[in-house]
Amino acid sequence: MTAITIEKIEKAFGATTVLRDVSLQIADGEFLTLLGPSGCGKSTLLRILAGLEVQTGGSVAIGDRIVDGVRPKRRDVAMVFQSYALYPHMTVQDNMSVSLRMRRLSAWQRLPLFGRFLPGTRATLANIEIDVMRTAKALGIGHLLGRKPGQLSGGQRQRVAVGRAMVREPAVFLMDEPLSNLDAKLRVQMRAEIKELQQRLGVTFVYVTHDQSEAMTMSDRVAVMLDGKLLQISPPQEIYADPNDRRVAEFVGSPK
Ligand code: ADP
Ligand code: MG
Repeated sequence: MTAITIEKIEKAFGATTVLRDVSLQIADGEFLTLLGPSGCGKSTLLRILAGLEVQTGGSVAIGDRIVDGVRPKRRDVAMVFQSYALYPHMTVQDNMSVSLRMRRLSAWQRLPLFGRFLPGTRATLANIEIDVMRTAKALGIGHLLGRKPGQLSGGQRQRVAVGRAMVREPAVFLMDEPLSNLDAKLRVQMRAEIKELQQRLGVTFVYVTHDQSEAMTMSDRVAVMLDGKLLQISPPQEIYADPNDRRVAEFVGSPK
């Protein structure tokens, strides 16, 4: 099965075209990395997949459902941002559970004073708490649920952002340079952890980075993007050994 089908995506901001004729199929359970220099259009493409940005041409399907015009919350995806985008005034517990509350509680149940007297509310909240706790423990942040983002290290914040995406149990994870704010040692450690997570969950990852070694060590396939175009989509070894374009060779630093 195909997890994502991207067909002839174009994106312009005013007179500036930033994505041109981007087509790509991503298989179920695949780890696909978009690799390219800063400004080439990686984040824009990921935001289009998430529904946070609307393309000016082309179409996106998630599974067998065309999602053009479908709001982000109604897509079976979860995104982890470079900045983590955590709510600073909320605890880790609340940051991780907020989207589950939106999904599992009815509009009435969400009302702060009235809602807690409605049948089923308490049980649902307890279940959400259990799910968040289980995920937090798996990520080694179970002891931090009462803290706020400002009281966490960069690595801990990064885990909270991943945990928040995980509890939604999406079919597809979208990650936009999730490790770029970490120091080198933690970055290498988190690579392995994210890869392990993806294999354990058996889910599809679309991972964005400008860091070649990250792309080469984590991915099933790498899609090299330059100036809004996908130049090559291949397994990592092939990108090095057999670049199909001079610009790809230059970017990855292989001899061709
Ligand atoms: P990357 O993630 O690869 O660094 P981006 O997708 O963020 O690249 O940006 C691609 C290009 O689109 C850049 O030239 C950027 O300036 C431009 N761009 C991104 N978002 C906007 C926007 N909202 N309005 C205008 N230009 C934008
Ligand atoms: Mg970017």
